[in-house]
Amino acid sequence: MILVLQRFWDLKGAIILQPYDIEIGAGTMHPDTFFRVLGPEPWRVAYMQPSRRPRDGRYSNNPFRVYKHYQFQVILKPSPQDVQQLFLDSLCEMGIKIEDHDILFEEDNWEAPTLGAAGVGWQVMLDGMEITQFTYFQQAGGFELFPISAEITYGLERICMFINEIDNVFDIPWSESVKYGEIRKMEEYEMSVYSFKKADIKLHQNLFRFHEAEAEKLLQEKLYIPAYEQCLKCSHIFNVLDSRGALSVTERAFSIQRVRRIACRCAEIFLEKRGELGHPLLKTANRKRIRDEKW
Ligand code: ATP
Repeated sequence: MILVLQRFWDLKGAIILQPYDIEIGAGTMHPDTFFRVLGPEPWRVAYMQPSRRPRDGRYSNNPFRVYKHYQFQVILKPSPQDVQQLFLDSLCEMGIKIEDHDILFEEDNWEAPTLGAAGVGWQVMLDGMEITQFTYFQQAGGFELFPISAEITYGLERICMFINEIDNVFDIPWSESVKYGEIRKMEEYEMSVYSFKKADIKLHQNLFRFHEAEAEKLLQEKLYIPAYEQCLKCSHIFNVLDSRGALSVTERAFSIQRVRRIACRCAEIFLEKRGELGHPLLKTANRKRIRDEKW
């Protein structure tokens, strides 16, 4: 499925990247989405991202929801007119006969408070199961966005279950002889035990403070990429503390605000630096347009 989607989006002009190597909750947090949706430069990218959500852990007992799932993320900036059709075509490429099924785009506006990001969106329901989130990005790092990017986030496990006509994620055939459960079930169980019962609260509270302080130092040096990595670490630690039930309502809101502050500062420095570079991708796009018009 990953290869099919990579080939499909490559042919639509997206660059194909690899997952980010830090624990993150969604493909949106990958720096090649978070930063690239900012500013005027065009961008088309596709990649798979393992996404960890400690609160989604279900001790491997839930057939649809797991602690770590695989997202396939696409960003199209600016958003093309036919983006919805492109998405439906990509489902056909994966072998889904859309005319035989019920596909619904249900309004589901999206917000990531730790990233200062939001957009209008739809969750895509395939015969009643949510398989993808579709969003027009309006804000990231606290900045209003223009041009608007379209984001498509496929939930690979759920689509795979659908294609294989099975109703439990752990029964997905990874190969002829090995199932998804063989590879992932023990991890799901143990990571759920860790996230809900064992993660050391004091240690995580300290880690949060250390990474936050490191980010502050890096921001003063205007090193927005390592600062953003510290921000991602804070975000994951926040998620662990949240799943451990270690945050009161006010602490939760305050921690979100602290992560968001770092993310917004990173975004600001990114914009400043791209401006200093003269927005190189904008120039390439203009040159390409002039060349295409000549032809
Ligand atoms: P939900 O409302 O089910 O928690 P979400 O709206 O937070 O999901 P997104 O962040 O939009 O999910 O993720 C994109 C897609 O990834 C979803 O449409 C879904 O197919 C899949 N997905 C999300 N969370 C999980 C999970 N915990 N386990 C398996 N698949 C998931």
